[in-house]
Amino acid sequence: MSNEITNYRGRFAPSPSGPLHFGSLVAAMGSYLDARHAGGIWLVRMEDLDTPRVKPAAADKILATLEAFGFEWDEKILRQNNPHRSDAYRQALAKLAARDAIYRCACTRKEINESGVPGVEGSVYPGTCRIKPPAGRAAKTIRVRTDDTGIGFRDLICGEIQQQVLSECGDFIVRRADGLVAYQLAVVVDDAFQGINRVVRGADLLFSTPRQIVLQKLLGLPTPEYAHLPLVKDANGRKLSKQSLAQPVNNAHPLPALLAAWRLLGQVKPEHDLGNPNEFWAWAVPKWKLSQVPKDSSMVSRLNLPAD
Ligand SMILES: [Zn+2]
Repeated sequence: MSNEITNYRGRFAPSPSGPLHFGSLVAAMGSYLDARHAGGIWLVRMEDLDTPRVKPAAADKILATLEAFGFEWDEKILRQNNPHRSDAYRQALAKLAARDAIYRCACTRKEINESGVPGVEGSVYPGTCRIKPPAGRAAKTIRVRTDDTGIGFRDLICGEIQQQVLSECGDFIVRRADGLVAYQLAVVVDDAFQGINRVVRGADLLFSTPRQIVLQKLLGLPTPEYAHLPLVKDANGRKLSKQSLAQPVNNAHPLPALLAAWRLLGQVKPEHDLGNPNEFWAWAVPKWKLSQVPKDSSMVSRLNLPAD
């Protein structure tokens, strides 16, 4: 099947909870090269919605790193934490409410863990508050009502992905108890707002994609194409993340990290020395092949586990 796309609009959407580490560089590179190879637009979106986790100056540091590594983004950077976006998220919640697709939930994480079945990401929400929350309990969380329709999509790297959101995840959160809009809703609203038609990102979000498709359908928004890149693991086989205190990449020496990310993405070895990031990108953009990117097999096998 062809991976051609017209009027390509892609994006890199880091959360400013720390400096850019190697795993995020791989995601930035994959999305950038795939967009540029197709002659497309590449945007940067700062996912600074989760204010308790945002670190001061992290967004500026991430942008300085992207610049030092020679990334060039189109259009203005979109920041989630601004009044226009808050209005858009509120409107999306109102639309879901008008469709009777959401309800309030009073359950704590502990209660869900105790009663839930293990799912793709933590325990499956058992539906306790679907009819109404137990009397006398403050219900601050808002969940979306899911059903047992299977959600499927063809990931451009991982292949056919199927998930039954109700049984593998359960009704999921669209507004958190602290009043913040959940990541799943914000990302869907923002991808549509920015006209993103291909999402290239890390395989840690492969599990989230079916939930995002559920929201796109409920909100009448288009579903982009998806390509989930392999994750970078540390020596113990754990995903590199800001939480595991992965080392930030070194702005003073971008080329070794660029070449390491390129190799991790399964691309051909350079046949000559590349002296600096500009030379790297000029050489890499025409050479990029999405079909060469390896599948993150650990993620794919977890998602496709047959139901009991
Ligand atoms: Zn509940």
